[in-house]
Amino acid sequence: MTCDNNVYLIKYIILALKYCIPLIIVTLGLINLLSRKNKKRALKKLLLCLVISLVITILTIIAEIILKNQDQCIKCTMENACKKQTLEQMSEKTSEQIEDQPEESQPKIETIDGVTYVDGLLIVNKTYSLPEDYMPVGAEGYQRCNECITEETKEAFSAMQADAWSLGLNLYISSGYRSYTYQDGLYNRYVEKDGKEAADKYSARAGYSEHQTGLAFDLNTIDDSFAETAEGKWIKDNCYRYGLILRYPKGKEAQTGYQYESWHLRYVGKELAEKLYNNGNWITLEEYYNLSSEYAE
Ligand SMILES: [Zn+2]
Repeated sequence: MTCDNNVYLIKYIILALKYCIPLIIVTLGLINLLSRKNKKRALKKLLLCLVISLVITILTIIAEIILKNQDQCIKCTMENACKKQTLEQMSEKTSEQIEDQPEESQPKIETIDGVTYVDGLLIVNKTYSLPEDYMPVGAEGYQRCNECITEETKEAFSAMQADAWSLGLNLYISSGYRSYTYQDGLYNRYVEKDGKEAADKYSARAGYSEHQTGLAFDLNTIDDSFAETAEGKWIKDNCYRYGLILRYPKGKEAQTGYQYESWHLRYVGKELAEKLYNNGNWITLEEYYNLSSEYAE
């Protein structure tokens, strides 16, 4: 069932009949009373206006009740509950149809002050960059700062760290926020060492690093050996519980533009993290939102 424009028209007619028209009639009666010399006659007219207004209002209320009971659609429009009803209808669909939806509906990509948001989620990869002056709250003046990650990222990490600790695992952030300038220096050093092509596979160019967002961090030892540690193995299958994702999973280099990084996590919130975890077969943000990750040059 859809609530089309006719329903809104009916709603406005009802509003007009219920409030506006009676108010106009009474106002006219009052003006008449104030302007006429024969007050007695004018008062009679005013009373008549009041009675007419009251009748119109009562009749409209009765019509409204009848319409509400007859048509669910009109009811939901009047009570602004259309959204809820749509959700209820959605839940009636089979789970198969719901699973198909992400592929069918295109995500909403918007750029605000040079920052790209896909369905409201901040995205940084080789296609979508950040402005030079972008930084998380509290990172002013820092080139790099492990505590300058966003509040929700910090909370997610702390909860994860505490749970890991109770299992005898030691997690710590070895790289959190990195400024545009710091990333520029880092990337250029890698280019000097390994060449541009190789550096692009494991290091982001300035403005293209998730570390500038304050939503990402690297854990423990920043190299492939982390995946083989007890901490690395636990992270792979548990970070999603805290709203964190393995941003560059194994075998997804073509999508993310980066080689597997077992140590790099990104905060996205629990709901999306669980979807991306995909029962152990990590899917990427690029895959989920159908995004590219390629430098323009
Ligand atoms: Zn990283």
